[in-house]
Amino acid sequence: MPTAELIAIGTELLLGEIVDTNTKYLARQLRDNGVNLYRSTTVGDNIQRITSLMKEALTRADIVITTGGLGPTVDDPTREAAALACSTKNEFHPELWEQIKQRFLKRAMNISENNRKQAMIPAGAVVIENPVGTAPAFIMPHNGKVLICLPGVPREMEYLMQASIIPWLKDHYALSGIIKARVLHIAAVSESKIDEMISDLEEMTNPTVGLLAHPGIVDIRITAKADSEEAANEMINSLESIIRQRLGTDIYGVDDETLPQIIQKLSAKGLHPIKVILGGFSQDAFKNLEGKNLSVERVETQSFSQVKISDNLLQTPMFTCLYTPSPELSRIELNFSYPDLTDSMTREYMGAPGLREEWAVNFCLSFIRHQLISKVYPEEQNDPS
Ligand code: ATP
Repeated sequence: MPTAELIAIGTELLLGEIVDTNTKYLARQLRDNGVNLYRSTTVGDNIQRITSLMKEALTRADIVITTGGLGPTVDDPTREAAALACSTKNEFHPELWEQIKQRFLKRAMNISENNRKQAMIPAGAVVIENPVGTAPAFIMPHNGKVLICLPGVPREMEYLMQASIIPWLKDHYALSGIIKARVLHIAAVSESKIDEMISDLEEMTNPTVGLLAHPGIVDIRITAKADSEEAANEMINSLESIIRQRLGTDIYGVDDETLPQIIQKLSAKGLHPIKVILGGFSQDAFKNLEGKNLSVERVETQSFSQVKISDNLLQTPMFTCLYTPSPELSRIELNFSYPDLTDSMTREYMGAPGLREEWAVNFCLSFIRHQLISKVYPEEQNDPS
């Protein structure tokens, strides 16, 4: 498998003024097409720093992909840096210049002499025409490696990646292998407990299993390398079913699924309106919870005895989640009531103060989900779809 590095170019990225979505996109594309990505870097619009980063990356990786800095202004230094890094010079391509002029004409935009710069491409590079923007991209072979420079505008970069770069990489590196990943989410179970339950699986080399802990949530990431998407999916499926046998309904979701979405799906299927009463949480907490058949009420109180429950409410599944933050340790008290079924739980947390509310929210959501699937909609335990 060839190896790759990514370089995101742009001072506004470096200073955090815009979010670097290109790197995320490219990382997934490379993974899905069987290229091993080893490093990604961000660099400002400075020719010397970009040149040395390109040179450095080309010593380590087979494929170096940059995004950004291909515009017509002096702030767009990528083609200059690419030529320097590959010890060559930029060449003017009259046919590209014609195309660029035509594109400006079609959009009734004024073209300046600066735009000529966009028709300059390092000598020896393969030109990748850009029908969705003005900056052409290029693929520059260098000492058995390759430097690929793509525009920064995400829409243009993604188009060129799909239309030209992936087919070129597939052809050039005879890529057949792909890497696929799936993430299983678990809430309210500690990382160490999960680690204990699946430690043998964490030793595997393909697929691999890794754990990532967030406040109140642990992700299990399964990654498989295979010759085809079907084979990778099969490898992931069989490992997922082993993990599900061990962790059962503690797994609440897969990939992009979130606890609020899962709870909303459950409540939307049911006949009973569900009520969640929250005390002690900030206004931002539980923002995405409300949905069909699911209402959220916020109360001032921080004690169960002060929560007034009308008779009417007792006919519906009702959750009370009270949060008491404190500098030493934070506490949540959870209560579930549904005519004959009740349950309650208290938990304390001593993690970093900045993470405590997130932990409390995830713990409450997990409690709600567990009560719903075990008591209100037990059939969902066998059919989590
Ligand atoms: P063009 O000449 O077509 O504008 P360019 O290659 O010169 O493209 P930049 O000038 O570096 O690209 O960036 C153009 C815009 O694209 C930026 O203002 C920003 O909005 C977006 N952009 C650039 N890099 C990224 C990135 N890594 N992630 C997300 N957006 C980006």
